[in-house]
Amino acid sequence: MPKGVYKLPDIKNEPILSYAPGTAERVSLKQKLAELNKGEVDIPMIIDGKEVRTNDKRDIRPPHNHQQLLGHYHQGDNSHVKMAIDAALKAKPAWEAMSWESRAAIFLKAADLIAGPYRSDFNAVTMIGQSKNAFQSEIDAVCELIDFYRYNVKNMMEIYKMQPNSSPGVWNRMVWRPLEGFIFALSPFNFTSIAANLGGAPALMGNTIVWKPSKTAIYSAYLIMKVLKEAGLPDGVINLVYVGGREATEVIFNHRDFAGLHFTGSTAVFNSMWGTIGKNISKYKSYPRIVGETGGKDYIFAEETADAKQVATAITRGAFEYQGQKCSAASRAFIPSNIWEETLKFVKEDLSKVKTGVVEDFSNFVNAVIDEDSFDKLAKAIDDAKASPDAEVVCGGTYDKSTGYFIHPTLIQAKTPDYITMKEELFGPILTVYVYEPKDIEQTLDILDSSTDYALTGAIFSSDRYMIEKLTSRLMHTAGNFYINDKPTGAVVDQQPFGGGRGSGTNDKAGSVLNLLRWVSPQCIKETFVTATDYMYPNFLEE
Ligand code: NAD
Repeated sequence: MPKGVYKLPDIKNEPILSYAPGTAERVSLKQKLAELNKGEVDIPMIIDGKEVRTNDKRDIRPPHNHQQLLGHYHQGDNSHVKMAIDAALKAKPAWEAMSWESRAAIFLKAADLIAGPYRSDFNAVTMIGQSKNAFQSEIDAVCELIDFYRYNVKNMMEIYKMQPNSSPGVWNRMVWRPLEGFIFALSPFNFTSIAANLGGAPALMGNTIVWKPSKTAIYSAYLIMKVLKEAGLPDGVINLVYVGGREATEVIFNHRDFAGLHFTGSTAVFNSMWGTIGKNISKYKSYPRIVGETGGKDYIFAEETADAKQVATAITRGAFEYQGQKCSAASRAFIPSNIWEETLKFVKEDLSKVKTGVVEDFSNFVNAVIDEDSFDKLAKAIDDAKASPDAEVVCGGTYDKSTGYFIHPTLIQAKTPDYITMKEELFGPILTVYVYEPKDIEQTLDILDSSTDYALTGAIFSSDRYMIEKLTSRLMHTAGNFYINDKPTGAVVDQQPFGGGRGSGTNDKAGSVLNLLRWVSPQCIKETFVTATDYMYPNFLEE
């Protein structure tokens, strides 16, 4: 192999295209949407680089139009999980031995393919499959995904450059080995970029992967595999299986070579998996790495000097974009009584203009929630609030699943700060507000801090700098991503590394050096140039 200490191409955040009327990207995306809406897709699993089909075909339907059949995917079982593990273990020696620049080139090429020829495809499958509007899809399935793949390469270099000091006659080196065994990547439905990164990040560091996506995000998962293959990813490095979560974990968490879990999803699922891994710990060759970014009950806390219009805009964007199905979405707000009426008026004005509907109509700000289970849970939360003496629906509160799973943006005012929707994650376009008296700010902060298990994102609004300092330090442990006078969503790779504490996850900050460090097991090598031949030290000599 030719050798060199190579310099990477310039790495920058992928610019967001506007999709405004008349732009080339809008024309191309509309064409792609029309094409996919016609097509009858047939989506196989990918194990050891091969397409695997079964007799168990499951429907793929857009959440915003559940009458429409887009095609099928092939559901697997235990045997496919075993095949995927075998393929990952078979691919491992060659993949871990491959030069870092070749691994980097594969992911950089994949990023360029997504930025260029596959941009419309990534947006179209995410829009149709996961019901995202063009802008929400562009910032996720295109820009964030590209940023993950490019910045991971840059961060891998930073890790490889982390080397120990040496003394005269000695050279110390750190070898950044991948983990021994295979990694299980388990992804949620809501971000195509996260799904791509859960397998991509450990793979870049030389690991091989079994990847199980959410059953409601299979269309985009398959496209990720297609592009990685075109970019040169060898067979068996990432193996994509469509099986039930329990079926997958039953096989994987009992396997001796299970080396790590890279998860994003709900806290309950993560907790149960952590428990199983703990119980099985003596079965494994090494201590598995457990990385999980989980749920949130993200807040907006306005203080009495806050600007009502700014707070209202943060609510409309932070709580309702992508139907509130972002782990970072604001789902509880504490608003002081002096700005509440004005804030509510502005939110109502915004929401009276917000349109809800299918993704093909670009003027729809809100699309459908992901599936019927989610719809039913959210509709029940709205009905319960309408019936409760402790809550009032002050805006929205309507829903309709006749053609798609549409929940209209809803604001619940809680009369007590411990009303259920102030504490539990709903994952939909519902924000609960508790209005507090400014003189009660200390108690309100205590409630904010202690009433949920989560600590993912939080936003404060104030125009008083003393108060900003005070809130920033008082709320330090309530959020892994904390925003001052801004909405709590929209983290950008390399700018706001993302992740939370407490019940919101292990906070390993996807897309950063911290995350990649979890996928390596460093080996320190000491090499001595003139080797000792006498066991004695000078202090033992006679005078
Ligand atoms: P989920 O936990 O229901 O599912 C995540 C994955 O786990 C899916 O692939 C699913 O099939 C699988 N799964 C479900 N039950 C399982 C079980 N018992 N055993 C093994 N696997 C199982 O989550 P979701 O609904 O897809 O995504 C939404 C959740 O993800 C929310 O809680 C959200 O806050 C969280 N999330 C967190 C972040 C973050 O960065 N913190 C980002 C995105 C989403």
